[in-house]
Amino acid sequence: MSLPATSTRVLILGGGPAGATAASFLARDGIEVVLLEREVFPRYHIGESLLPSCLEIFDLIGAREVLEAAGFQRKAGGYFDWGAERWSLDFGELRGRHTYSFQVERAKFDHLLLDHAAAQGAAVHQGVEVVALELDGTGRPCAARWVRRGDNGAAGTIAFDYLIDASGRSGVMATHYLRNRKYHRVFQNVAVWAYWEGAVCEEPGYRQGSIVVGSMPEGWTWTIPFSDGRTYAARRTGDKCCSCHRFCSSSFFRISRISLFTY
Ligand SMILES: Cc1cc2nc3c(=O)[nH]c(=O)nc-3n(C[C@H](O)[C@H](O)[C@H](O)COP(=O)(O)OP(=O)(O)OC[C@H]3O[C@@H](n4cnc5c(N)ncnc54)[C@H](O)[C@@H]3O)c2cc1C
Repeated sequence: MSLPATSTRVLILGGGPAGATAASFLARDGIEVVLLEREVFPRYHIGESLLPSCLEIFDLIGAREVLEAAGFQRKAGGYFDWGAERWSLDFGELRGRHTYSFQVERAKFDHLLLDHAAAQGAAVHQGVEVVALELDGTGRPCAARWVRRGDNGAAGTIAFDYLIDASGRSGVMATHYLRNRKYHRVFQNVAVWAYWEGAVCEEPGYRQGSIVVGSMPEGWTWTIPFSDGRTYAARRTGDKCCSCHRFCSSSFFRISRISLFTY
């Protein structure tokens, strides 16, 4: 396994969809780019239901073909069970050129995107964690110290002209250096989720492959079918509602009732 170079024009920190997409864009434009990803893919990640606008990006980075061939569940739209109302949303009836999207297993999806970035010419290194950034005299990041996991402590430093921090929730720049990450009260929620096999939704008006979103007095639920037969069901609620074990044990009963799938 090769080690990261000692310098690059652009360093991307993190190889999730944001990092991999940025790497593909840059590499396709002939810009030197190194991407360092802490994990070795495929790795589990939450966040699986995509919107049709993503297809536009896949086209732009040339990844559409590989993603279409991957066998992900096509998502025609959504079905909403919100308060007293029930209605379906068909992406084909909205504005825009794309009439569907995908429900993706993120381990596979992220892996495909990252491999695609490498195929476009980005130098992708997995299992390499950025452990610190070096700032120049003006406070601008100019180099990163990295450690390769499980490799007898292989470590090094890479200098860069530009940094893209795509480290997701870790938010390396925001949390450790800029210290400007703010948590909006509205988004201080807690989600619980699980994967089910053999779940079916026979609700009239439901189009196979769609996401189902339902409201509850203290939160909401969403349910996503995958192409491999599994269904992902989740419930999100305010942080005050979830401090006890009872929340977890009771939640899936309520999900199964509200999200219209039979488990
Ligand atoms: C409960 C829940 C449900 C969600 N559902 C959906 C959904 O249905 N649809 C949707 O579109 N979005 C959903 N999201 C949001 C989605 O998960 C995120 O928007 C998405 O993962 C962000 O991608 P990213 O590339 O920015 O970050 P990530 O995918 O988190 O990637 C960041 C990467 O950086 C790496 N990294 C972190 N620190 C370092 C370091 N120091 N050195 C090297 N690498 C590092 C990590 O290993 C990781 O691979 C959901 C989120 C939650 C919490």
